Amino acid sequence: APDLSSPLLRGLNPEQLAAVTLPPEPALILAGAGSGKTRVLTTRIAWLLQTGQISPGGVMAVTFTNKAAKEMLTRLTAMLPVNVRGMWIGTFHGLCNRFLRAHWKQAGLPQSFQILDSGDTLSAVKRVIKAKNLDEERFVPKQVAWFIAASKEDGLRPHDVPVHDPQTRTLVEIYQAYEDQCEREGVVDFAELLLRTYEMLRDDPLLREHYRRRFGHVLVDEFQDTNRLQYLWLKMFAGPETAVLAVGDDDQSIYAFRGAQVGNMRDFEREFRVRHLIKLERNYRSHGHILDAANHLISHNARRMGKTLRTEAGAGEPVRVQEHGSDFLEAQWVVEELKALHRAGLPRRETALLYRSNAQSRVLESALFNAGMPYKVYGGLRFFERAEVKHALAYLRLIENCNDDTSYLRVVNFPARGIGARTLEQLADAARQTGRSLWQSVGAVPGRGGASLAAFNALVEGLRHETRGATLREIIEKMLQRSGLLDFYRTEKDGADRIENLEELVNAAEAFVTQEGFGKDAVALPVDELAPGLIAEGFPQAVAAVDLTPDAETGEIVSPLAAFLTHASLEAGDNQAQAGEDAVQMMTVHAAKGLEFDAVFVTGLEDGLFPNEKAMNDADGLEEERRLMYVAITRARQRLYLSFSQTRMLHGQTKYSMKSRFFDELPDGALKWLSPRTQGFGSGFEKPYQQAWQRGSGLGSMVGAGRTAGWQPPAPPSLPPVPKALVDSAAKSAGHGLRVGQAVFHNKFGEGLVITLEGKGPDARAQIQFGRHGAKWLALNIAKLTPID
Ligand code: ATP
Ligand code: MG
Repeated sequence: APDLSSPLLRGLNPEQLAAVTLPPEPALILAGAGSGKTRVLTTRIAWLLQTGQISPGGVMAVTFTNKAAKEMLTRLTAMLPVNVRGMWIGTFHGLCNRFLRAHWKQAGLPQSFQILDSGDTLSAVKRVIKAKNLDEERFVPKQVAWFIAASKEDGLRPHDVPVHDPQTRTLVEIYQAYEDQCEREGVVDFAELLLRTYEMLRDDPLLREHYRRRFGHVLVDEFQDTNRLQYLWLKMFAGPETAVLAVGDDDQSIYAFRGAQVGNMRDFEREFRVRHLIKLERNYRSHGHILDAANHLISHNARRMGKTLRTEAGAGEPVRVQEHGSDFLEAQWVVEELKALHRAGLPRRETALLYRSNAQSRVLESALFNAGMPYKVYGGLRFFERAEVKHALAYLRLIENCNDDTSYLRVVNFPARGIGARTLEQLADAARQTGRSLWQSVGAVPGRGGASLAAFNALVEGLRHETRGATLREIIEKMLQRSGLLDFYRTEKDGADRIENLEELVNAAEAFVTQEGFGKDAVALPVDELAPGLIAEGFPQAVAAVDLTPDAETGEIVSPLAAFLTHASLEAGDNQAQAGEDAVQMMTVHAAKGLEFDAVFVTGLEDGLFPNEKAMNDADGLEEERRLMYVAITRARQRLYLSFSQTRMLHGQTKYSMKSRFFDELPDGALKWLSPRTQGFGSGFEKPYQQAWQRGSGLGSMVGAGRTAGWQPPAPPSLPPVPKALVDSAAKSAGHGLRVGQAVFHNKFGEGLVITLEGKGPDARAQIQFGRHGAKWLALNIAKLTPID
């Protein structure tokens, strides 16, 4: 009989207790969010260890994210002193890596084999297609990579794939050649980690027996999200004698789009002859209104195994719903609420911002940054640290300063231009010898390598030339096209997200420009005139850090591009929460699975965004979105905010949206609308004025009153829109007798040509191309310029 006296078991409800102390046999826990599945799983490991039924080396536990695995280890060590090193606790990929490192010889891999990420995989596929002289139009690399990954995830090697037509035959040939190439180079991709481990165990009874004897207990969290190969893989480690504990929730299956199969739960029940099916019905996480909202929403899904959840925590606070005029205002509101929560004593790490897609984090990050509030982005990098964004910034830095060697190295061969490591070594040598920049040393590299480098320089030079006097937006758009970055990511397997982020960079620049009141397409008004409320709120901290005041002596102002780049590096660097620092938690809903927080904000609840556009017109897709929304809601313990915005900058354009259809599926009684449901800002204003208003007076009055119900937007400002022609002509005449194309002399920078004129009166400025000093922005009321011709 199991020992039930352990303090570990205190506080468990009868069903949980039964699950923790089950005999060593296969079991399935099927239960809703927050019912203690993960807690049962971890407690069971602790209990088995404590009662001496297993040793640390005899446990294998699998979860889906690194954060969840870490969490599990932390919870375990908090429960009892145990050496966690010997335990196999991790993600599927993490455990496969561990297995293959241990058996590298038998796996036919070099001891220090490398793992290809999805970008590496795609370029490997491309090389194969090229080597086989195939047409990339017919065999789109991205699709071929999908084909290979999908085959592997079905457990199929090239010769196992059924061939019915010539197209498939060629695909299989590519697959084979790709495998040969990986073999030669000693690398494995993600799917290979799993497949290779699976096959080794399948084909080697001794090895399989060894592991089956070793792991008496195998525990799987989030079982609903396993795909076919992962399930087969589990069956290798788990034999008839193994006590497998699988826990899951069909309502939280959110990876069907990647091939996860809820059906694995039924197969598991049957194939392992599961005698213990445990349901947990009490939710310990969320207050009543939150749980009501979750239950109500998910009841709209037709295909469910059917579970109920109740709580004894009391109704708690209603779910707060807030509508906004723009994503910018939404972010401001989130920050104000966060401040209030923090003041009320809630640690920041207990607050989470969730969003449907990664690109949405940028606006939120920016608002948090400006408020000086530490935050941490999980399961994805902070916006300005994402690889594709860094690549794009590197191009921009080169346009601004071609001698930036770091940026040069980052993108000289990205996207690939056939510039090899040897060429770059030669280039670095030449630069070292003469003490010049890489850019300047290109002439010293002979042969084809040198020619490729020169072509790259010409590309950047051309970009600089073409974007002279262009707006920040135009510069970035042109750069994304001409550099080949957009094309590159269009062909990548996970490229869609990256393209979204690149488009988001355009938004970032747009927002930056209008905040500055700087650049061609913003009406040039000084910031304080533009938004008095903003200054009062201490809002433009990030902007203040970028010094836009003209140099008192020369009149030089940094270019919008330079200012933006400074802004980008500031945002990327300094505000990153230090390890252990109390920080707001930001992540996509997918990455939030299994986690919980005292207060949760789900932002961007608009039709087309959440539910996602791609899934909206398809019943299965919509059900998956709904499960995702269920996951989002059930992350909250005490307070839940749901918000949406009438307009949102997406892909470089302002998008007008309706609130998410999921609002109609939430129980009225559990919600509290913080703002009137129809609060139209209208679209009649010229953009700069509208933004000035939203950021200025709108923000100022929102801070105090935005939280109370029935808040009315302030009256629109009475500024009439200024016809664009008028602004242009004002800028052209600028009062300083300058015109575009005119040659001028500056006492410090020498001779130059006027390339752009902007602003009027004291705000007038010119961009001038100087011979030795490059292009500079000068404030005309300070700079002493003499026309030459
Ligand atoms: P999800 O489906 O979101 O992964 P879950 O079913 O894994 O949720 P847990 O994370 O294990 O749920 O538990 C939710 C919360 O409830 C945790 O804070 C956990 O400590 C708490 N909890 C679970 N069982 C009990 C209990 N018997 N007494 C008190 N608190 C409990
Ligand atoms: Mg869990």
